[in-house]
Amino acid sequence: MQMFDKILIANRGEIALRILRAAKELGIATVAVHSTADADAMHVKLADESVCIGPPPARDSYLNIPALLSACEITGAEAVHPGYGFLAENARFAEILAEHEIAFIGPTPQHIRTMGDKIEAKRTAKGLNIPCVPGSDGAIDNDKDALKIAAEIGYPVLVKASAGGGGRGMKVAQTAEELPNALAMARSEAKAAFGDDAVYLEKFLDKPRHIEIQILGDGNGRAIYLGDRDCSLQRRHQKLFEEAPSPALNNSQRQEIGEICAAAMRKLDYKSAGTIEFLYEDGRFYFIEMNTRIQVEHPVTEMITGYDLVNEQIKIAAGSPLSITQEDVILFGHAIECRINAEHPTTFRPSPGKIKYYHPPGGLGVRVDSAAYAGYTIPPYYDSLVGKLIVHGRTRTEALMRLRRALDEFIVDGIDTTIPLFRSLVREADIQNGAYDIHWLEKFLAANDLKVG
Ligand code: ADP
Repeated sequence: MQMFDKILIANRGEIALRILRAAKELGIATVAVHSTADADAMHVKLADESVCIGPPPARDSYLNIPALLSACEITGAEAVHPGYGFLAENARFAEILAEHEIAFIGPTPQHIRTMGDKIEAKRTAKGLNIPCVPGSDGAIDNDKDALKIAAEIGYPVLVKASAGGGGRGMKVAQTAEELPNALAMARSEAKAAFGDDAVYLEKFLDKPRHIEIQILGDGNGRAIYLGDRDCSLQRRHQKLFEEAPSPALNNSQRQEIGEICAAAMRKLDYKSAGTIEFLYEDGRFYFIEMNTRIQVEHPVTEMITGYDLVNEQIKIAAGSPLSITQEDVILFGHAIECRINAEHPTTFRPSPGKIKYYHPPGGLGVRVDSAAYAGYTIPPYYDSLVGKLIVHGRTRTEALMRLRRALDEFIVDGIDTTIPLFRSLVREADIQNGAYDIHWLEKFLAANDLKVG
């Protein structure tokens, strides 16, 4: 098998460690990069080599393409894994690496570009027989067209930014009167956040769940799906708690949507890991977007399939054909992930600072993906993810029981974290019954403001 000797990890935090672990198991040497704020970070300590690529602001370090290229050149790294965030979905970065004969551990620049533009992504999905949310077929240029289309699909409607991400540039219009204002607000938010004010319309679904399908392709016509994840528990469109498989689906529904996605990826010749995201309501799936990267919540899929998705990404980037067949993928048990953020558990105010004492939980079926350690100071410059607690059980009930136990064991002293929020959540009947939609968490937070913790 063709394999890289050395790869550079263009990221930090828990995902840098995650990639490092996969590389080590494959016998590949690793290069960490870091900003001056991250000189003491765990990914730097664990890598075989490290290169400082700039000052703390991400645009000067983790997003600094010339510095990353120099780091590859100095160390002789043959490939770059971008992780998630930063440059993971930057098609130009993937192209520049190719121009320098460095492999990008991810999809082709063309697929990143297509799926990064939501209007283009939806058009592509439709052409591949993936079911979509009813809406405008392309960008909306004026209020008159918007009002006409909205009347056809019916209110409420959602105005979304084509370049959107992280829930920004999205505005709901309940009535025709509200639509012009929603359009203007979504446009200006999108322009400010992404430098692109193209917006489109979608039917606003009332009480959907967010269900996504994990896929893997080798760029040569082979592609499979590795089950689904339910990421409905969100705050401001940010996922906080994810599980696999979704408690809302039965096996035939799971298989049906999985097959549709895998067939689409085969047709596309999609390469690497990817996620096709859907809203699910009243037994129907509606495509919302595709993410062309490894996702934060990928471990729940690994726990129920036993496959290491980053290992597969690396092998595919090195030119190996996909070695897993659809028949090899057997879902076993249930997994749940909680995102432990350095944030106050009810106000969500960021809480960077020094971790005085750190004790992660352990035991059967417990996995902690984190770059934290006692004495580590979380810098204020980057995202607030301290780590992910992932549990696995033979059944959902067992996974929940294990999660409750693991959360009670988890100690992160010195900063605020979202751990107390999860301790409250796992005791809720709706969570235990899997009876929640994408609005559940915000309603829970509004109703329990003082009780959590
Ligand atoms: P982003 O890339 O900004 O995260 P997505 O298209 O993935 O945007 O949507 C993020 C979240 O917004 C979804 O998980 C869901 O909670 C909500 N959402 C998106 N589209 C719709 C819709 N048509 N109706 C209702 N909620 C939606």
